[in-house]
Amino acid sequence: MAKQDIYTIKQSALGPNIYDVMKMSKDYEPGGIYHIAVAPNKTMSCTCYAGHKFCRHKKMFLEFRNADRIGSGWSYSFDSNKWFPPLAAEEV
Ligand SMILES: [Zn+2]
Repeated sequence: MAKQDIYTIKQSALGPNIYDVMKMSKDYEPGGIYHIAVAPNKTMSCTCYAGHKFCRHKKMFLEFRNADRIGSGWSYSFDSNKWFPPLAAEEV
């Protein structure tokens, strides 16, 4: 169910201006990973099939950055525009 996918974004080990966009199911099962690279002129590229256009991952990246939640462990549902707190925080 693609509509139920949630995403989390963190700094990538691949480079300083690269970010890992991780797709998960509602049950936090990994569902794939894309990489967003931000060029010095702020242009973003994404490794997904639609990455040459303004894909949903780039939109999500901006949502994460605006919320200051990159690398925070927060997850985001693009389709329902809902945030989910880090799993570790729920266990406390
Ligand atoms: Zn993409």
